[in-house]
Amino acid sequence: MSHLALLGGTPVMKADDYKARMFHWPIVNDAMRKAQLDVLEAGNMSGTDISKRFEQEFAKWNGTKYALTHNTGTASLTAAMYGVGLGPGDELICTSVTYWASCTGALSLGASVVFCDIDPENSQMDPASFEAHITPRTKAVMVVHYEAHPADMDPIMAIAKKHGIKVIEDVSHAQGGHYKGRMLGTFGDAAGMSLMSGKSFAIGEGGMMLTNDPEVYRRAIRFGHYDRISEVYAKEEYAATNIVPVGGLKNRMHQVSAAIGLEQLKKYPAEVEEITKAMTYFWDGVADVKGIHKIFPKWENSDKAGWYASHFRYDPEAFGGISNVTFAKALCAECAGKGFYAGCNFPLHLSSFFYDFDVYGHGRPTAGLNLPPGTDVRALTGELPVSAHINSLVMGEPWFKHYEPEYIDMYIEAVHKVAEYHTELLDSNEAQEFQGGMALTHRKTK
Ligand SMILES: *Cc1c(COP(=O)(O)O)cnc(C)c1O
Repeated sequence: MSHLALLGGTPVMKADDYKARMFHWPIVNDAMRKAQLDVLEAGNMSGTDISKRFEQEFAKWNGTKYALTHNTGTASLTAAMYGVGLGPGDELICTSVTYWASCTGALSLGASVVFCDIDPENSQMDPASFEAHITPRTKAVMVVHYEAHPADMDPIMAIAKKHGIKVIEDVSHAQGGHYKGRMLGTFGDAAGMSLMSGKSFAIGEGGMMLTNDPEVYRRAIRFGHYDRISEVYAKEEYAATNIVPVGGLKNRMHQVSAAIGLEQLKKYPAEVEEITKAMTYFWDGVADVKGIHKIFPKWENSDKAGWYASHFRYDPEAFGGISNVTFAKALCAECAGKGFYAGCNFPLHLSSFFYDFDVYGHGRPTAGLNLPPGTDVRALTGELPVSAHINSLVMGEPWFKHYEPEYIDMYIEAVHKVAEYHTELLDSNEAQEFQGGMALTHRKTK
């Protein structure tokens, strides 16, 4: 008779122990309900007055001079790329293990994407790999603060400075996070981030671009905010284009999102505090389990803020070679079927799209469109051994939104139980065929 619920044993949690409210996100209050109805009833969805207020408050909170609302995080990141001057023939360096929107916009600007590797300890950009991928054409680096954890900004900024490379931060997973006491999104020349429903700062579809550089700000407005061009360019400056957005894009945020964002800003710090308390309690509770390693920032005054898609390292060797897929299934079977998942994002450098696909019909691959003839785009990235294997070595953890120790205790017990009886899984061990997903939110704890 097996102990583990996956093999017919009694689970730690019964189905009705499960509390959806422990994971539900975002938390909606009356002020949010009223704010979004006010926008609808005033027919003010496509204005910019509320979005501008949201920008001012967001910039104040995040500590940058400018914040510019966008309709998606993807748009905010592409605008940041255009803002810093990324263009034809330039290379953008980005980590391979991230969501596609961190880098794909570069192709539409005529630039190329070169991927670098990550640090196996924390899944963040490996500064040495970043430096090794620099060429004379490297114009910018996209630094993703991945899975709520800050990237190692000190060496990254030093390398970028040495080589004259623009730095863009993707803060989609880490709104409100800090690296050595300084807020994420304030290190680079620009930052972009998603504020869509699955992220920790969730307002619906939406994105925010941040910068301290007035020229980046102006360029981003000219790129995709036609109705605001005359606010930042003199008439003679835009005479040639009138107020056509030069990117051919309309990036304006829906004001229901902006109104929700203003309310979200007021309560987000308190929510982050409670999530942190809950997650810290969980990790204190499983600290003694060998083979399960929490991924916490190793620097002073650094944090995981909203804990979006937080992952831990899973060491199959410590569990007789049992894959993270099987281990995660065993954990979920103890916890009403939810809470843990194997792997993270699909490593983008393994997608042939970034080397071979002809998007626009130029008759040659878009990825290397404007590079010197004969350039081997694949070779610019090369092998990225950590990125290629990270999916079998990490696992997503339950994302508790409330500090309720008795409830979290059941998950702590489940981790201890599966670790203790893991040998029962040897006969049903599934190979790690899972190659990561395109989006983390589709698999997050429900
Ligand atoms: C979600 C996400 C984006 C894109 O944001 P959207 O709002 O979905 O367009 C960009 N980068 C990362 C790392 C993301 O997770």
